[in-house]
Amino acid sequence: MLFMLLVCAFPGAETLRAGAASVDITPDPKAFKVWLAGFGRGRRAEFVTDPIAARALVLEGEGATVALVCADVVGLFDESARRVAERLPGIRVVVSATHTHHAPDTLGLWGTGISSGVHPPYLARVEEACVAAVKAAKAALKPVSARLGEVEAGDLMKDSRPPLVKMDPMGILRFDAADGKPACLAVLWHNHPEMINSSHKGISSDYVGPLVGALGRKYGCPVVYLTGAVGGLMSPPSQPVKAADGRELPKNSVEATFRYGELIAERAGKAVDGSKPARLTPMRLAQRDVYLPVDNLLYVAGNQLGTLPRKMYFWSGSVDKPGEAKDGGRKALRSCAGVLTLGELQVALVPGELYPELALGKVPEPAPTGADFPDAPVEPSVLSQLNAKHRWILGLAQDEVGYIMPRRQWDAKEPFTYDYKKAPYGEINSLGPDTAPLLLPLYKDLAR
Ligand SMILES: [Zn+2]
Repeated sequence: MLFMLLVCAFPGAETLRAGAASVDITPDPKAFKVWLAGFGRGRRAEFVTDPIAARALVLEGEGATVALVCADVVGLFDESARRVAERLPGIRVVVSATHTHHAPDTLGLWGTGISSGVHPPYLARVEEACVAAVKAAKAALKPVSARLGEVEAGDLMKDSRPPLVKMDPMGILRFDAADGKPACLAVLWHNHPEMINSSHKGISSDYVGPLVGALGRKYGCPVVYLTGAVGGLMSPPSQPVKAADGRELPKNSVEATFRYGELIAERAGKAVDGSKPARLTPMRLAQRDVYLPVDNLLYVAGNQLGTLPRKMYFWSGSVDKPGEAKDGGRKALRSCAGVLTLGELQVALVPGELYPELALGKVPEPAPTGADFPDAPVEPSVLSQLNAKHRWILGLAQDEVGYIMPRRQWDAKEPFTYDYKKAPYGEINSLGPDTAPLLLPLYKDLAR
């Protein structure tokens, strides 16, 4: 078999150790042309609004070491994730991104003209920072007791594409040192860090840095932010953000964004305070290569022009292996699917932006009128295929293939769903309508 199935499980001793660290990845926008990724193309950064970082959580227990590292960038491709993991032998590494829309392009799609927005030395720096953050977190390991908390936070976001299905709850991991004080925290939330206006010319973590900073100050420990299921489309709310004195802050301003980060931190604090002891060992990372067809002609053209600098394969008809040109010429890329089991918690590793409908089993029945494939079978939901007591989704994990949406919600052709006058947003940043039906059924085996 050409695909790789990597499974590691280590039964044995009992003590859990945890550590977290962050490494700065803020570039100097005067040193090279920084193209900001996430909104439109050709947005050149002129200054730094707030620093961006790669943050890592490392857990060690029962002979296994697991690292979750997440960088303040729009996404990192499969090749980047593998390069980071290769440099950390002996550690099972999961690389992801916060998906901030105000950081240098790390995927290639946001340059100007037909050129890639990636500055290769900067991408190398981000990968190096991921490695360094994991090493620093490992060096900070100390014996801890683990706690898990969850809190509803749907009111702090909006779903900008119907059907209205918000991803909840927010998840918290709290690791207390021997003195009972938090040694480190991890927050997993499902939202687009795109609060700051798209015309803003500063490099920023968006709400992530302010959230991490506020929680870190409150609990006196490092905090790692992780991104969940942000598709379909989880975004900051439309209503104005209010300052502590009740004053409405200018919409999509930096000030409103920083305040928004504090409000998210307040909510996260409820989960931290209400967290309950959890068993997070044994730890097991199961993952496999997945070949997915690329039907988005913009991606195929971008790849040929160099704006989408990742290796393209041919589609073989199976996710298990790449094909050859004689198979029909349909392009494919190599990605990764996985499940990280931490004792009572299972985390599905989804290599892109999953629609919450597919996480929660809330795909509309019947399909919305106007959908391109109304009779497409409903994909098995990701969370229903996991089998631990607590179940989370980590998005943009080991890759960023774009939106992963239910096939029966795919809507590129007229008439459009939900009375849209033009095609709804989402499909243009997706590989194609077959991603979810091919990818989603794989989680059951990975969770076993
Ligand atoms: Zn997105």
